[in-house]
Amino acid sequence: MPELPEVETTLRGLTPHLTGQRIKQVTIRNPHLRWPIPGNLPGILRDQTIRTLHRRAKYLLLECDSGTLILHLGMSGSLRILPAHTPPEKHDHFDLLLANGTLMRLRDPRRFGAVLWHPEPTGNQRNIAQHPLLAKLGPEPLLEDFDAEYLYRATRKRSATIKQVIMDSHVVVGVGNIYASESLFHAGIRPQLHANKLSLPRCARLVQTIRKTLSASIAQGGSTLRDFVDSNGKPGYFQQSYAVYGRTGEPCRVCGTAIKQILQGQRSTFYCPGCQK
Ligand SMILES: [Zn+2]
Repeated sequence: MPELPEVETTLRGLTPHLTGQRIKQVTIRNPHLRWPIPGNLPGILRDQTIRTLHRRAKYLLLECDSGTLILHLGMSGSLRILPAHTPPEKHDHFDLLLANGTLMRLRDPRRFGAVLWHPEPTGNQRNIAQHPLLAKLGPEPLLEDFDAEYLYRATRKRSATIKQVIMDSHVVVGVGNIYASESLFHAGIRPQLHANKLSLPRCARLVQTIRKTLSASIAQGGSTLRDFVDSNGKPGYFQQSYAVYGRTGEPCRVCGTAIKQILQGQRSTFYCPGCQK
């Protein structure tokens, strides 16, 4: 599943190809994604220029002349840059053809992704942050407003486990299952700990390891950008070596204790009983 680092890598891969480009044609082959792709989108987008691209949580936002195109990769989506006239394959549901002959193509076998349009007033009065999908999201983990004091305040009234709380997008966005386990390991925090029991110094430590874990993954993703723009290449997802994730029963790389796997809120959690208190 594309996590925040893959979405950030996708954003970085797309940006030089799409910024300032005029949309020539939009093709919808299958509108049945998580929500239907609006049928009037081809008419709306034709001849609009893509001004800038952003990411908010795992949403890619393509700011156009009269609104913002919202893209989400769901469980299995990928976006690629291809030469125009590249024949579509089975799961290629949506194309943006640009005036310069470049094609941006969405492939999404499981169809949990999204392509939505948010009309906005022209000029600087953009209101995309108020979109229902975005309005209630917590801070970005890599930006300054996610800090120790914030996490401490946000967890005081939460008796759920710290793992479940950091995966709650109202608290902080983009900390998926893998990164939650990995960040808690590096912070030395046991995932079953009740969030409101976390001290301020431990909140500081956790903020730091969440940032580090995500940044390291994004940095690694940068090396896959070449694949990302290659028509035969893999999308920008990447396998990496984890400290605890997926390592049930294997020795901890720090202390040698066997890594444990438990279920929390229907999701697998991995941790080291030796290192995490
Ligand atoms: Zn250990």
